[in-house]
Amino acid sequence: MIPMWATELSFEVRPGQKFDARAWKYWKPVLLLLNEVAKKEKLKINWVRVHSHFGHKGDVPHAMGWWDHEQKAMFLCHFDKETMLHEVGHALSSGYHGDPWAKQASRLYLKYLTGKELREAMIQLAHYLSGRRVYKTIYGEKAPKAPEIQSLWKGLDSKK
Ligand SMILES: [Zn+2]
Ligand SMILES: [Zn+2]
Repeated sequence: MIPMWATELSFEVRPGQKFDARAWKYWKPVLLLLNEVAKKEKLKINWVRVHSHFGHKGDVPHAMGWWDHEQKAMFLCHFDKETMLHEVGHALSSGYHGDPWAKQASRLYLKYLTGKELREAMIQLAHYLSGRRVYKTIYGEKAPKAPEIQSLWKGLDSKK
C-alpha cells in the first residue's frame, strides 16, 4: 500500500481513509523535502497524515494542513511545499499565526524554496497580519494582496 520511498523517511506516513494510490506522486516531493527539513531543523515528527480528494467538488471541508503539538504529528491536505513549510513553522513556534510563526514560516520559505514557489509562498504570508509585517521587514514594501486559496484538489484529474 505504502510505496517504498515513503517507508524510508524519519517519520511514519499515514495515508487518510480512502486514500487513492494515484496521489502518491503528488506527495512524494513534499514528503521528501519534509524529511530533509526535519533533519536540518532538528524537528521530531512522529507521523504525517496525507489526504487525497480526486474529483472533489466544491471546497474541501477542512484545513489545508495542521500541526498537532501534543502528538508531534502533521496533517496535510494540500500537497504543496508551502503548506508543509507553513506547518513546520507552527511546529517550531507557538501562538498560532502570530509573529513567532510568521518569522519561522518566512525563514523556512527563504531557506527551502526558490523561484516561483518562493515568490508565491511569500505572498501567501499576506493572509496574516503577522505575515504582512514580516514581508515588509524583508522586502521593504507592502505585501501584495494574497490571492484567495483554492483547494489543489479542485478539478484535479486523477488520470494526469
Ligand atoms: Zn483533505
Ligand atoms: Zn497555520
